[in-house]
Amino acid sequence: MGDSVAGLEALDSSAESRRPAPHVIAVDGSAASGKSTIGRRLAEKLGYPFLDTGLMYRAVTLAARERGVDTNDARGLTRLADSIRIGVGPAAPHSAETCSITIDGKDVTSQLRRPDVEDAVSLVSRVQGVREALVRQQREIAGQQPMVMAGRDIGTVVLPDADLKMYLDASIGERARRRHAEFSHQGRAVTEQIVLEDLRRRDQIDSERTVSPLRPADDAIIIETDGLSQQEVLRRALQLVDGAS
Ligand code: C5P
Repeated sequence: MGDSVAGLEALDSSAESRRPAPHVIAVDGSAASGKSTIGRRLAEKLGYPFLDTGLMYRAVTLAARERGVDTNDARGLTRLADSIRIGVGPAAPHSAETCSITIDGKDVTSQLRRPDVEDAVSLVSRVQGVREALVRQQREIAGQQPMVMAGRDIGTVVLPDADLKMYLDASIGERARRRHAEFSHQGRAVTEQIVLEDLRRRDQIDSERTVSPLRPADDAIIIETDGLSQQEVLRRALQLVDGAS
């Protein structure tokens, strides 16, 4: 793995408004809880880079699919995670993604939400060696600059000393509605029921795995987002930033 730090240095740092803020902000939460959207918008407001760590797990999963490494082959997945170079950079203009991702220099961003990747990513993310490889890289990135980092284990494992930790949650029904609306917007034909079942399956694997299970850090501030607009969640997040500064 290699050039993600250099990639991140190039992330857009134009701020809509600058304010003194905590240096490292962790935004964790379940699938489709809104953590990537809110994390990205918070980072824009603060002029910080944003890293969506879910995309890194998706990148390892994509590489495994392409190279025929089975989701039950923990040693093979660990070797793969140790050998590929995942690069993280700013999102392309007008991209729906929050970052762009390369594997060994090749841009793979548009493939990270493929259904086969979606199906396998939680299984790949259970593997300790995969997590160790990615966590090492995530810590290195956060050690170099103030930033907002989103994921499942940022506040608990990756950056336990983060200055501010948020944990976003919403009911499974609300999350399925939001994710389904996104898919419809992208022209993906899938029913809301299938989206809901997939979220439930991923939540279960992510929460029950033995390594770094999905859970809020003891000192995380939980934001329940049912019934709140993105704008309202962002306002709440900015209030927390002001309170923590
Ligand atoms: O956030 P996103 O839904 O893109 O994440 C995809 C998957 O990557 C999650 O379901 C989870 O299995 C894994 N993941 C993780 N730890 C993180 C971020 C994502 O295990 N920090």
